[in-house]
Amino acid sequence: MPQTTPTRIALITGASRGIGACAARRIAAQGRQVVLVSRSEGPLEEVAATIRNDGGLACVRCCDVNDHLALARMIEEVAEEFGRLDILVNNAGLTRDNLLLRMTDDEFDQVIHVNLRSAFVACRTALRPMMRNRFGRIINISSVAGVVGNYGQTNYSSAKAGLIGLTKTIAKEMASKGITANAVAPGFIDTAMTVNLPQQVKDWAKSVTPLKRFGQPDEVAAAIAFLASDDSAYITGQVLAVDGGMTM
Ligand code: NAP
Repeated sequence: MPQTTPTRIALITGASRGIGACAARRIAAQGRQVVLVSRSEGPLEEVAATIRNDGGLACVRCCDVNDHLALARMIEEVAEEFGRLDILVNNAGLTRDNLLLRMTDDEFDQVIHVNLRSAFVACRTALRPMMRNRFGRIINISSVAGVVGNYGQTNYSSAKAGLIGLTKTIAKEMASKGITANAVAPGFIDTAMTVNLPQQVKDWAKSVTPLKRFGQPDEVAAAIAFLASDDSAYITGQVLAVDGGMTM
């Protein structure tokens, strides 16, 4: 009797829109069961419906990743329900921009908690079921801001640089367990996160990007899906820039 491979389970945070929603669609198209996570049930259900319409497997979990206990519990429950957890994409993120001299402790902490501490908690929780199966793919969504810094983003740049350190350390600690960890560092991408940037910032961003345009969320999702796939088996601890050449 030929052995059937069990369906891999992929959990994607921040999957209600933007880069996360596109990544969920692409990973589902690879035949994975995707678990879509964010705070808003309606938009998550809409993304799940499009995936099911295309013949994919998707379910929804409402969770504020800022509630670190709830996040860990939700990941444990998903791993228990499906009997495994193979792919984790830490994509939920937000910005609270301000010049350093004006930035409040609260603005700094909020961005660190949602972008970085949640990823640490999610990775620590997901690693147990991954280690049991001796297979795992962790993809952390960093940013060019974490690589080269950015005006008005000391909080965000610190969180995104932290994600790179987290990723490389997990890659070293977990390589012997069959688990890889990589980061994706997008440049300026057309999503809700950048839509309200002042026009002069948008013009500046295009001027310093060799491809002279913003990226599309699906262009970042393509890199995420590659790193989640079996084709990336020999790649770990890397930061893949999807930035139109901005940081080359
Ligand atoms: P987006 O359209 O604003 O999406 C952000 C996602 O994160 C949403 O699904 C949002 O869902 C979720 N989220 C935010 N806070 C959350 C919380 N506390 N708990 C759970 N989910 C939360 O932004 P995007 O551009 O797609 O960004 C995705 C990732 O790429 C982020 O990590 C961002 O930092 C990174 N990135 C973006 C750019 C860019 O130019 N757009 C560049 C570099 C890096 P709900 O609001 O439904 O909870």
